[in-house]
Amino acid sequence: MKRRAIYPGSFDPLTNGHLDIIERACHLFDEVTVAILVNPNKAPMFTVEERIEILHEVLDAKFAQVNIDTFSGLLAEYAMKKRAQAVVRGIRAISDYEYELQMALMNRRLAPSVETIFLMAPQEYSFISSRLVKEVFKLGGSVEGFVPPFVIERMKNKI
Ligand code: ADP
Repeated sequence: MKRRAIYPGSFDPLTNGHLDIIERACHLFDEVTVAILVNPNKAPMFTVEERIEILHEVLDAKFAQVNIDTFSGLLAEYAMKKRAQAVVRGIRAISDYEYELQMALMNRRLAPSVETIFLMAPQEYSFISSRLVKEVFKLGGSVEGFVPPFVIERMKNKI
């Protein structure tokens, strides 16, 4: 049986922290779906289409078992529909833990067959978030080393 995992998130934009989680998830699962949550309430830097394009550009050549998708609504339902055994999430600090625990317990209630797997961020990426990367970039700071070079190019095109 194929072991499938979903790695859900906003990926606005994809960071090296996300990439690290994706690479490690590939060691654990036969198939990893990076799933962009379509959230109409958020004002993103990149449209969903742009984020899909970035993910393909950065991931396709590197990871044969990764596929890219979008979803809206309940993650638990999406994971069951995809017949995934697991949802992968990254934990950077204690501040992530509280929210992630709540989500994992709710998702277990909604989809008991789907396990949530947490991967700890390595120290060098533990302070990186899409939000902070966008903030630093907008204020003129360098985001080199925090996101893939292709993402930097796309961010530059935005302004
Ligand atoms: P969300 O908006 O759902 O937090 P993100 O795209 O920011 O979506 O993050 C998706 C997942 O990746 C979350 O589990 C988050 O904790 C994790 N993550 C984000 N940045 C990092 C990082 N630097 N290192 C490890 N995990 C991370």
